[in-house]
Amino acid sequence: MTRFLGEPDVAGYAALFGSTVVKAAVDDVLRDARACVVHDRRAVPAYDALLTGLRSRLAQVETESLVPALNGSGILLHTNLGRAPLAPEALEAMRTIGEGYSNLEFDLQAGVRHSRYARLGALLRSTTGAEDGLVVNNGAAAVLLVLDTFAKGREVIVSRNQLIEIGGGFRLPDVLARSGATLVEVGATNKVYVRDFERALTVDTALLLRSHTSNYRIEGFTADVAARDLAALGRRAGVPSVEDLGSGALVDLTSFGLPHERTVREAITDGVDMVVFSGDKLLGGPQAGIVAGGAASIARLRANPLLRALRVDKATLAALAATLRCYLEPQGHLRIPFYAMLATPVERLRERARALAARCDARGEIAAADIEAYAGGGAAPLAPVASAGLVVRTARKSAPEVASEMRAREPRVVARIAHDATIVDLRAIPEARDGDVATALVRALA
Ligand SMILES: *Cc1c(COP(=O)(O)O)cnc(C)c1O
Repeated sequence: MTRFLGEPDVAGYAALFGSTVVKAAVDDVLRDARACVVHDRRAVPAYDALLTGLRSRLAQVETESLVPALNGSGILLHTNLGRAPLAPEALEAMRTIGEGYSNLEFDLQAGVRHSRYARLGALLRSTTGAEDGLVVNNGAAAVLLVLDTFAKGREVIVSRNQLIEIGGGFRLPDVLARSGATLVEVGATNKVYVRDFERALTVDTALLLRSHTSNYRIEGFTADVAARDLAALGRRAGVPSVEDLGSGALVDLTSFGLPHERTVREAITDGVDMVVFSGDKLLGGPQAGIVAGGAASIARLRANPLLRALRVDKATLAALAATLRCYLEPQGHLRIPFYAMLATPVERLRERARALAARCDARGEIAAADIEAYAGGGAAPLAPVASAGLVVRTARKSAPEVASEMRAREPRVVARIAHDATIVDLRAIPEARDGDVATALVRALA
């Protein structure tokens, strides 16, 4: 036992999880070895073999919990890697509110109960231009709440070119069915007109739904219904319109060289009654789902008992508020890591890539290269962001092996694989962590 605990990496695990967990793992490994000797009449394993067994057991224990990783995938808002990293002020707010008590559901002036759902109204008004806003657990929950409140047992008209499936099994027709609403599809896959919506209106129509086609494009012989026209039709017919924007940009992405991504404010200006978007995509905040829109519609959402099952936690509200406040100052959004990453000049990334290649490449296996990154999070799916990074090719290991070893231990780097090479994109990796990238690279190529 003492010999195992004297190994520096095993001692590292003991510092991370506590020595009880590590001792239990040692006991497991020794017990398995004894069983092999007794039952299978095998030779007593050597210390090194036992140590290898212990290491893989501890590595498994570690990755079952949440561990940090550097994102070298080149996808800035990667759902599998936790989407948006938080701004320093958001982290600070989570700490301040999280470490003690707050007025989460309490009116400090009157000394009576208050609604947590009213907390971010003012900030959402000033950042989106909407009359009011409401925050729930995530974007999917926000869509569900809108459908449940307005469309249960009634009809929702959706254009056939927007019946989306996004990641994680969120398929619009299924979500509609789950909420007890009837989907009324209109138009053709490539062409949809306002008159298609108009003809489908009945006394049972509850909502006109528009959805951001966040992961595909329909190109060629196409026609689409503008949100403005759909919202106007809804007002004429007395039917609320809702737009699932998905990523929910609050700033214009063209200032970062990306194609224009419809902002929440534009959707509100177009007259859409309720706009739904995520907190952890282009907004750059914590996981949350936001509905911004008309005061009467938001009030109806607030009155739905289902809200109780979708409610957000105090730390989320604190982080979201702090993130939204960044947008109220000129250039304040550049303090949000996602925008800081987008704003980094590609020349700076090239310099870092060259320095890393020079530092780690002992055998001519690592090259600095210009590559392409993507925003992710359903934003600008086809528009690359100029980036730079490292292309690793070695005759000694396959690209998946190199990538796997970069992920195996602290510091962990998630790379991508293309054309039989392991590629580490630097755009989503903070410059201060380049030393860790070097450590992971050298380890993987050892
Ligand atoms: C991402 C997305 C959602 C779901 O939002 P989550 O916050 O991931 O639950 C819904 N609709 C669209 C169009 C999206 O892009």
